[in-house]
Amino acid sequence: MVRQEETLVLIVGAGPAGLAISACLSVKSIPFIVLEREDCHNSLWKKRAYDRCHLHLAKEFCSLPLMSPGPKARKYMPKDDFVRYIDDYVEHFKIRPRYYHCVEFASFNEAKGKWQVEAKDTLSNAITIFISTFLVIATGENGKAVIPNIAGLEDFKGDVIHSSQYKCGSKYKDKKVLVVGCGNSGMEISYDLANYGANTSIVIRNPVLPGISRIFENSVLFEDQCEAHFDAIIFATGYKNTTCEWLKDYDYILNDNGYLKNCFPNHWKGKNRLYCAGLSRMGLLGVSNDAVAIVDDIQAILRDWAGRGMKF
Ligand SMILES: Cc1cc2nc3c(=O)[nH]c(=O)nc-3n(C[C@H](O)[C@H](O)[C@H](O)COP(=O)(O)OP(=O)(O)OC[C@H]3O[C@@H](n4cnc5c(N)ncnc54)[C@H](O)[C@@H]3O)c2cc1C
Repeated sequence: MVRQEETLVLIVGAGPAGLAISACLSVKSIPFIVLEREDCHNSLWKKRAYDRCHLHLAKEFCSLPLMSPGPKARKYMPKDDFVRYIDDYVEHFKIRPRYYHCVEFASFNEAKGKWQVEAKDTLSNAITIFISTFLVIATGENGKAVIPNIAGLEDFKGDVIHSSQYKCGSKYKDKKVLVVGCGNSGMEISYDLANYGANTSIVIRNPVLPGISRIFENSVLFEDQCEAHFDAIIFATGYKNTTCEWLKDYDYILNDNGYLKNCFPNHWKGKNRLYCAGLSRMGLLGVSNDAVAIVDDIQAILRDWAGRGMKF
């Protein structure tokens, strides 16, 4: 039998955005449930960030609402310090996410005026239907790793990984490693590899340096027709948000790549009391600002309803 549960606010995702919303709702005594598909909160930082990862922005810009990392925290927090800060945040606000709950479908029921959200328990495969008045999407911009379709990639005999699987360069000592992509992750992973004694090359696709034309069993052919041998390829080629795979009729708020359609500062509010937190490409500062704005909006609606004697 499919279980059904009702709540005022349903939050999907227990990363920094979902946790920030939870804390802001808690202090206003607004009931909520937060669903997380993984076995822990802050899973991106706990499971998919490399060992040497530091916050790229100073701590003032990476603080969640209502509790800062404190004066003793380092200016550019290392990953482990940030993970500890978020663990303390969860404990302080007594946030209890429902782990192993992967949201697979959500739609607005016009007749009932409520959201209907289906979540699969990834341990038992049981489905629970959550009915909520407000729905907050806090699934992050890094939901799914993206590896581009390059001819011959499946033939490559060496290691092929995405940056989200990279931990440290110890196993690449003396190996020829190609890093594809030169954002923060690509640059930092290349530096880490070099420190561990790997022979590292970076592909930066621009008019000066060539992109990849084709991959063979042990080598890569570049667009300038140069071919070079590699033992491993690490794709630091980004991520995509996966919400459009399960949110019905999302196109008033998200495009097909899961990016917000509305521009800052009106990006976080959708129709029918749907909100998006942390999808504005403004990192943790955006997460924090969105959380405060969304919870203020929810509170204003509830006050208005209460003033008009409406039940919710
Ligand atoms: C390597 C790396 C370094 C970064 N460094 C910085 C930095 O220095 N400064 C900065 O501001 N930002 C940085 N970022 C950006 C990063 O996106 C934010 O720091 C932060 O993690 C965003 O929080 P979030 O809650 O929006 O998303 P996430 O942390 O991605 O959390 C989303 C959560 O939603 C869950 N989820 C997704 N889909 C579902 C579903 N269908 N059902 C249930 N749960 C679901 C996920 O499992 C995840 O736990 C970095 C990102 C990466 C990858």
